[in-house]
Amino acid sequence: MKNTVIITVAAVAVSMALTAQAQGQKKNIEVTINGVAGFQDTPLEPDGKWHVHDPARPQPPVVTPGKTFSQQATPPSDAIVLFDGKDLSRWTDRNGNPAPWTVEDGVMISAKSDIQTTNKFGDIQLHLEFKEPVPGKGEGQGRGNSGVYFMGQYEVQVLDCYHNKTYADGSTGAIYGQHPPLANACRPPGEWQTYDIMFTAPRFEPGGKVLSPAYVTVILNGVVVQNHQAYRGASNWKSPGKYTPHATELPLALQYHSNPVSFRNIWVRPVPLVDEP
Ligand code: MG
Repeated sequence: MKNTVIITVAAVAVSMALTAQAQGQKKNIEVTINGVAGFQDTPLEPDGKWHVHDPARPQPPVVTPGKTFSQQATPPSDAIVLFDGKDLSRWTDRNGNPAPWTVEDGVMISAKSDIQTTNKFGDIQLHLEFKEPVPGKGEGQGRGNSGVYFMGQYEVQVLDCYHNKTYADGSTGAIYGQHPPLANACRPPGEWQTYDIMFTAPRFEPGGKVLSPAYVTVILNGVVVQNHQAYRGASNWKSPGKYTPHATELPLALQYHSNPVSFRNIWVRPVPLVDEP
């Protein structure tokens, strides 16, 4: 019986390897440089300087945030409140089923899968608060990982980078896989942290060509970590980013990445397009 199981497992492993080979996928080798694990055999970023998730890319400078910034900020009168501590009625999983996250003591905690809003958005101002688990468990990308996905695909990274090194383009506040944050402004795990983010949706020509990219300005705990930074496309693991034309409004999503990350006080204001000079 035991032998049969081993042979079956081996057969599955071989067939998976063959499938990967047939599809031209290569297995990237993780390397560690100065205590940072990452990759140097992934595609190059378009500037040709760094590989995606390159551990040699400089770490963002640590900036200690002020004691308070926008914790418990009350929403403006025209905001759409996505989570006020009560329930997940504004959220589903990626397939439209009930959101599988838990709600406890006014806080929602990531579990099982990504979730997305029932509303669809284009350009928005977002306020969101998150708290990393205590004690911090895991290292690098395995420590308190989640993420904010604008239009379901343009990620601003959520991670516990307080005394936790990871590749720069995957740090807290990174446009994942593309642009490191300008600073590491993380609070310790167990403390509420704030994101105040302005996101501008990409525009596509009728034929699908990118007319203007997506942009994001990110304030983490009162510190600007992205300043009107352009996305190079949807963010993905080991990908330098790629645009695929899509609708002008899509749901906002939050990532589940095997770690229980807490969220509270989430609201957005759709921002109108102003063409005035
Ligand atoms: Mg993430």
